[in-house]
Amino acid sequence: MIIESLTIQEIFDSRGAPTIEVTLTAPGHHSFLARIPSGKSRGTHEAAVLSYADAEKALHNILRTRVVGLDFQTIKELDTFLIKLDGTEQKEKLGGNVMLGISLAFARALAYEKGEELWKVLHEEFFPRTDISKRPLIFANLINGGAHADNNLDIQEYMVVAEPNAEYRQTVQKLISFYERLGFMIAEERGVARLPLGDEEGYEVNFKDNFAPVALLERFIKESELQNEFKIALDAAASSFYENGSYRLEGSLLSMEQLVERYREYFERSKLLYSIEDPCDEGDFEGFKKIMEIAGDRWIVADDLTTTNPRRIDKYAGEGLMTGVIIKANQIGTLTETCEAINAAKKRGVRVIVSHRSGETDDAFLIHIAKACGADGVKIGAPAKERISKYDELIRLYS
Ligand code: PEP
Ligand code: MG
Repeated sequence: MIIESLTIQEIFDSRGAPTIEVTLTAPGHHSFLARIPSGKSRGTHEAAVLSYADAEKALHNILRTRVVGLDFQTIKELDTFLIKLDGTEQKEKLGGNVMLGISLAFARALAYEKGEELWKVLHEEFFPRTDISKRPLIFANLINGGAHADNNLDIQEYMVVAEPNAEYRQTVQKLISFYERLGFMIAEERGVARLPLGDEEGYEVNFKDNFAPVALLERFIKESELQNEFKIALDAAASSFYENGSYRLEGSLLSMEQLVERYREYFERSKLLYSIEDPCDEGDFEGFKKIMEIAGDRWIVADDLTTTNPRRIDKYAGEGLMTGVIIKANQIGTLTETCEAINAAKKRGVRVIVSHRSGETDDAFLIHIAKACGADGVKIGAPAKERISKYDELIRLYS
């Protein structure tokens, strides 16, 4: 398939975070779009994100002369070419956001040519032997803290994990109702008419301490008689409260051992607490090891630690630092490497959770990646605004 033209637009999410849209034109004047999210709490090993101005420069100075007009047969062929053209470890020259935009728009062009869905094209090229009947858990971030909110919570995300026991449509309806009723309940308890929302549309309010939202979610899940379908997950995003070898939690500095002890207390106090993402700083390998020792059957999930990088996933999974991994395509910057990261995780027996970002677009490509690889989970935020498109696509692709 020949890439006939490329253009880039800047688009803003509903909270004003900048994201980009890449348009690729293929033979027959068909145009294919890819909208690429951006993240706020970013791991230091993520692919570079070019600003719109720099993306335009890369387009004019490099991509229009070196990529437009070329013919690629597969996604991997295109991505390998782009990776070589960029030539840097973290894609500083072309930008992970720009490269992923081209990669994804091209995958859509291939899907169109074959008369197939995007997920099918990804499945055939990267996961041909994978069982796709698995239905992923939904990780929905309903209370926001950390870098995503203007409140006193150090922990970034308090998620409800919904098991698709029934049709996704019913599960999603239950989640939407839970989210709305939770908001009414908190607002009533606090005597306010409306609650502010954080970056991922979860409620952005102060709590007594970092465990209080877990206790609240647990109580409300039980009151709603949903304990057989809903569990609780955290994304501590602990790099954001790591200071020179210690963790600043609720105003006090804790050692790694004290932090892990705090998580052990959380596990004891909440039977529904199911998984913790980034419990420790991205460079605190000992901390990850320690929490793995006390986690039992709870998931320890890596995000900033692994940054969707196949080599990092293979290395740290091999060292036994996690049982689950977050996959965010824009952390690595091409679809090929994203799928290689998933395969690296699967090879090590690590569960795969395909995730959105805090700065989101209405592009629901992450659901296609999840379906293509038979993911264990999708992390898609609260059911509101740009996140709704993910819920809609989940229902469409799995019905
Ligand atoms: C996350 O940390 O998992 C997340 C979704 O946030 P961000 O996009 O800000 O990295
Ligand atoms: Mg995270």
